[in-house]
Amino acid sequence: CAGTYGTPPILMRSGIGPADHLGSVGVPVRVDLRGVGANLADHPEVEINCGYRGAVRSAPLLHSVATFHSSAAASGSPPDLMLWMPEPVALDEGTRVFEIDVLLLKPRSRGTVRLRSADPADPPRIDLPNVREAVDVDVLAEGFRRAQEVANRPEIRRLCADPPSPQIADDDELRRFVRTNVYSIPHVVGTCSMGPSSDDGAVVDALGRVHGTEHLFVVDASMMPTVPSGFTHIPTIMIAERLSEQIGALP
Ligand SMILES: Cc1cc2nc3c(=O)[nH]c(=O)nc-3n(C[C@H](O)[C@H](O)[C@H](O)COP(=O)(O)OP(=O)(O)OC[C@H]3O[C@@H](n4cnc5c(N)ncnc54)[C@H](O)[C@@H]3O)c2cc1C
Repeated sequence: CAGTYGTPPILMRSGIGPADHLGSVGVPVRVDLRGVGANLADHPEVEINCGYRGAVRSAPLLHSVATFHSSAAASGSPPDLMLWMPEPVALDEGTRVFEIDVLLLKPRSRGTVRLRSADPADPPRIDLPNVREAVDVDVLAEGFRRAQEVANRPEIRRLCADPPSPQIADDDELRRFVRTNVYSIPHVVGTCSMGPSSDDGAVVDALGRVHGTEHLFVVDASMMPTVPSGFTHIPTIMIAERLSEQIGALP
């Protein structure tokens, strides 16, 4: 239950993980599970600053969220883009920000969590997914265009002193902007993925039991095989409530 970054290192130091990686850091292999620490997914994001210079409130902050399908999304699939608009905030004296955050909800890109050494005091090496898959750049760029439309709506313009930034018309320039400016919203999942068979990269079964073990369970966001089309906190709680009941009822 140590989370998407914390659970794989505990398993790997205990000898449960990809055999070649464990060998490279001198950990004896107990269960060769290639999925441990693989499949790291998050919500990559870029943002538009709407150019707001007006008054701000300190609290409560209201957030508007809209999810929708990109042109690349399969019909019947969950939404793969989100526009997230927190109300204007003051970053510091004189700096007001009203942003539209564009989140890629169903990224293809994947990263990893690996050990630096067998020493538990060494933090893991986290290789974020970023937008290494070209399709993720294209979908996030499409989301950015939708955010530009919203930022240029008269309802927003009448509140904002400056034009939205960045102003990007050229598609190649937009792809470069996405690659350079994307950052990780830490809705991280996937590094101890749930699935029926470890042959497919799964780490835990439907109860959270680690494949190849008998009494070892993982219950946290790391077991989500793909990142949800929304924020991850409540799904994690739902998983924990459901599995704690089921595991508690085991003989
Ligand atoms: C800055 C930030 C903002 C976020 N904002 C939102 C949001 O607005 N809405 C939303 O839905 N989600 C949000 N999330 C994501 C959400 O917090 C996670 O999806 C959720 O907390 C995952 O729960 P978890 O139990 O898997 O992991 P965690 O909540 O990370 O819990 C893991 C626990 O294990 C402990 N741990 C780790 N390693 C060890 C170890 N070796 N020994 C003992 N204990 C250990 C950690 O200290 C931690 O307490 C945010 C995440 C971050 C980082």
